[in-house]
Amino acid sequence: MHIHDFQEMMRQLFFKRDAERGIKGTYDWLVDEVQELGEELKGNNKEATEKEFADVIAWLSSLANLTGIDLEKAAINKYNFKCPKCQQSPCKCTF
Ligand SMILES: [Zn+2]
Repeated sequence: MHIHDFQEMMRQLFFKRDAERGIKGTYDWLVDEVQELGEELKGNNKEATEKEFADVIAWLSSLANLTGIDLEKAAINKYNFKCPKCQQSPCKCTF
């Protein structure tokens, strides 16, 4: 499955509810899920961490659906097998 297909699956499952919640409410929910991922990363529970990763990409997809952004296209346009800053692969930017 490609990112585009996952985003379309999220559209089929949740678009009606996402549209009712709106961009701001969906963004706030994404932020909450990123914070939950951050909490799981402090521990050692890989299964729980995996679920939080799933929630983050699900809510990111919902937000992309609401804003008319194709996540796969956006990601590849910016990160097309090279670092967008130094244009190298692997990245050679200094920390
Ligand atoms: Zn770089």
